[in-house]
Amino acid sequence: MRRTHTCGDLRSSDLGKEVCLQGWVRFSRDHGGVAFIDLADRYGITQVVFDPEDLPAGTDAQALANVMKTFTRESAVSVNGIVRKRVDGTEDARNKTGEVEVLITSAELLSRSEVPPFEIGDQKEGVLPSEDVRLEYRYLDLRRTEMIRAIEFRSKFIHLARQYLESQGFLEIETPMLAKSTPEGARDYVVPSRVHPGTFYALPQSPQLYKQMLMVAGMDRYYQVARCFRDEDSRKDRQPEFTQLDIEMSFIEEKDIQDNMERMLAYIWKGLYGEELQIPFPRISYMEAMERYGSDKPDLRYGLPLEKLTEVFRETNYGIMKKIVAEGGIIVGMNLKKDIAGDKIGRNDVDRYIALAKKFGLGGLTWMRVVNGELDSNIVKYFTDDNKKGIKETMKAEEGDLIFLMAGPWKRTLEGAGLMRRQLAADLGLVPEGTFQFHWLVDCPMFEVDPVSGKKDAFHHPFVLPYDNFKKGACFDILLNGNELGSGSMRINRPEMQVEVLHQLGLSDERIEENFGWFIKALSYGAPPHGGIAIGVDRVIAILLGKETIRDTIAFPKNKKAESLIDGSPDKIDDEKLEELQLMSLAMDDVNFDIEEEDIE
Ligand code: ASP
Repeated sequence: MRRTHTCGDLRSSDLGKEVCLQGWVRFSRDHGGVAFIDLADRYGITQVVFDPEDLPAGTDAQALANVMKTFTRESAVSVNGIVRKRVDGTEDARNKTGEVEVLITSAELLSRSEVPPFEIGDQKEGVLPSEDVRLEYRYLDLRRTEMIRAIEFRSKFIHLARQYLESQGFLEIETPMLAKSTPEGARDYVVPSRVHPGTFYALPQSPQLYKQMLMVAGMDRYYQVARCFRDEDSRKDRQPEFTQLDIEMSFIEEKDIQDNMERMLAYIWKGLYGEELQIPFPRISYMEAMERYGSDKPDLRYGLPLEKLTEVFRETNYGIMKKIVAEGGIIVGMNLKKDIAGDKIGRNDVDRYIALAKKFGLGGLTWMRVVNGELDSNIVKYFTDDNKKGIKETMKAEEGDLIFLMAGPWKRTLEGAGLMRRQLAADLGLVPEGTFQFHWLVDCPMFEVDPVSGKKDAFHHPFVLPYDNFKKGACFDILLNGNELGSGSMRINRPEMQVEVLHQLGLSDERIEENFGWFIKALSYGAPPHGGIAIGVDRVIAILLGKETIRDTIAFPKNKKAESLIDGSPDKIDDEKLEELQLMSLAMDDVNFDIEEEDIE
C-alpha cells in the first residue's frame, strides 16, 4: 500500500476522494466511540476519523476497531479512507488541511511506538523537556514542526548557495577528512593510523590549505559545504564539528570575494524570502569597530556609540584616570541619552552595571548625570574645569543624560565597553527584532599580541597576505547582527613571504619545514594570487531563524559537553581495537596497573 497524499496535502477540493495517508499518530481523542486522530508527517497534520456508525457497507467494524486500538501515540500507521468535510464549526483555520478530515475505512499499524518520553506537539519552550532529553531522542525531537522547519530552511539555504555558485563557475570539490593538522588555532581531533602505527591523521579544522592548493592546481573557483572539526574547550555555542560554506578564487582582489558573497547572499535572500537584500554591505574598519563600538563584530542596528576621552583626561586630578592615561590606556564614554535610557536607569540599576563592569573585564565604571546643566556625581569634584568641558562637548551631554566612563588598557577596556553596550541595548530594548544587518569588517591587523602571555598570533591565520609592512593583513570578516558569520582574506602566494610570516609568528625553520614544508612546496610552483572566505552555515541559519543556539539548526549536534547523547559517543573502544592501533589509554579507569606489574615481572 502506498500513500496517495502526504498529511499536508488534502483540501476541500479533494472531498469525496479515496485516499491513503501514512504518518505518525500525534494525538488521538475519543468522543463517545468516535476516534479522532491527528495524523502527522513532515508536511502537515490531517485529522483522520474512525467512526463505527459511518462505515461503508461491508466493512468489518470490529476488526477495524481492533486495529485502531493498536495505534499508540507516535506509532507509524497507514489509513485508507474518504475525504469528507468537517462538521460545521469544527474547522481548524490554522491548519491548511483544517477544512477536511478522512473517514477511515481500513487501517494498518506499520510500526508501534513506545510511549514517547515527551510530547511531540508544537509546545512552547517551557513545555519541552531538557535539551539533553531532546538530544537523546533526537529522532523524536526532529518530528516537531519547529525542528522540521529549521532543517528545511537549512537545506534550502545550502541549495540556493550551490545554485548561485555553480552559476558563477565554482566547482564543488571535496577535500580530505583524514589530513595533516592545519593550525587554525584550536586543538585537532586526531585519528590513529593502523597501517602506520604511532602516527595520526587530523580531522580538518577547515579545508584552508587544501583549497589553496586547489588554486595552485588551477581550479580557479572552488566551493564546498565543508565539515570542520575543532576540539575547543566549551566556548559558547560552538560545536566540535560544524559546517562552513568554504570558497576560494584565483586571480582576484579582496573586493571580488566580497562582491561575490554579497551577490550570493542576495540570491539566497531572494530565494528564501522573495525580497531584495540591500547590497553592497556597509564596511567598517577594525579600528572604528573597536573604538566606536567596543567589538570586532559590533551590532550596528542600534546606537550607543563610544566616544574617546583619553585626551580630555590627560590633565586631571582624578588619580585613576591620570594613571591610566599615563600608562598608555584608553578612556571611553557612553552617553545614555535621557529619552532612550537616562530616565530609565535608576541608582540601583547603576549599581548593577557597576557590578557587571567587573564581569566584563573592566576595572570599574564611572558614571555621572547632567543635572541643571552640570555633571553630577561623587567623583566630579576631582575633574578640572577642562575635564568637565571636554566631557560635555565630546559626549554631547544634555540635561538628564546619564554618562558612563570606562578606562584601562586598550583592548580589554574596549571589549568590556562593548559588552556593556550590548547589555544596555538588550536591557533598554534597543535591539530591533527580526531585522538583519550585514557588514564587512575590513582593514584588520595582521597580528595580535595576547596582552597576558605577550604571544604574537595571527589575527586570522598565518596564510593571510600581509601589507603595510606586516602591520595589516588583507583579511576581513562578514558580520550579521553583531555576530561573525565568517572570515576571508587574500592569501600569501609566494613561498618566501609565507616563510617570513611564520618566522614572525616565532616558528623556527625546522618547525616550518616539518609542519608546512609540504604546503610551502606547493606555493613554489606558480601559485596564483588567490583568496577566499568561509561562512559558518550553522551560525547564519541560527541567526536568520532567531535560534538561541546553533544546536537547533543541526540534525544531530553534540551537547554542551561535546557528547553525542543519541549514540553515547565519545566512548571507549575495545582493547583489541586499541591493540591493533598499538595504542594504550592512560585514562585512569582504563589502565589495570596490577596486570601491568605482573607483565613486567
Ligand atoms: N579557513 C578560514 C577559517 O576557517 C576561512 C578562510 O580564510 O577562508 O576561518
